[in-house]
Amino acid sequence: MPERTPRELGLLADCESCFGLCCVALPFSASADFAVAKDAGRPCVNLQDDFRCGIHTQLRQRGFPGCTVFDCFGAGQKVSQVTFEGRDWRQAPETSGQMFTVFPVMRQLHELLWYLAEALTLDAAAEIVPELRAAYESTERLTRESPGVLEKLDVAAWRAEVNTLLLRVSELVRAGHRGREHRGADLIGARLKGADLRAANLRGAYLIGADLRGADLRLADLIGADLRGADLSGADLTGSVFLTQAQVNAAKGSPATRLPASLTHPAHWTTPDRASDRASGREPGPRGPRNRAGSRKRPPRRG
Ligand code: SF4
Repeated sequence: MPERTPRELGLLADCESCFGLCCVALPFSASADFAVAKDAGRPCVNLQDDFRCGIHTQLRQRGFPGCTVFDCFGAGQKVSQVTFEGRDWRQAPETSGQMFTVFPVMRQLHELLWYLAEALTLDAAAEIVPELRAAYESTERLTRESPGVLEKLDVAAWRAEVNTLLLRVSELVRAGHRGREHRGADLIGARLKGADLRAANLRGAYLIGADLRGADLRLADLIGADLRGADLSGADLTGSVFLTQAQVNAAKGSPATRLPASLTHPAHWTTPDRASDRASGREPGPRGPRNRAGSRKRPPRRG
């Protein structure tokens, strides 16, 4: 049972074991994040026959920055190797429709596993460890269901159930700090340089392009916060909860930005022209986008 970190539990993309599912199953809209549009279920024009990305070292330069910050939390390899037992959608095209339907469901389940695993490492959440363990085990069991069960799963309902626990964790972590209440707030482009956001509730907040330089975000709840283009240079996010590497990768920052121990500084915070999936700090291997959820549309709301 996980008192190990999400990273230690392998809740990260392993593109080498995946059939390029995020490059085919998900739709793109042409935007600043994706140079071309494509429908769900249609392979990206850059996806090669071996499921590798043909432009993986030049994603930002070629107009696909959205691919550099995607994380499936390990859902891609689970669907490819466990749910469909290694049968890929090119060799077994009859599986493709179901596989592409299951992938986004699995991604949501794995994202929940990430949050629950993180919660289980938090001292502040000690009093609800049994409930967290049970939720983790139940979610893990769901990820091992058959394709037929997974494609019919009411994942939104399961998310809502788990979210009540995650909310409790958030309250326990932030208890006694009187953090600001910004749940779901529109803070797009907000000037929050040096702001005291310690223990703030920023669940699902829109922080796109916000100036958070030097802000104090310690113990803040950042689940689902949209940090695209937000400037975290010099900000302190130590002890913040439910922050993912994909959110960090979508933001700006600097070597002085302080992150929770489980997350890493993306290389593009120091070498902006080289930012690619290779530079994200979580080398994904030669195929696969890293974050579409945060690019063509808002990430799913969790608050
Ligand atoms: S990483 Fe992005 S550009 Fe490359 S194949 Fe996948 S979707 Fe296409």
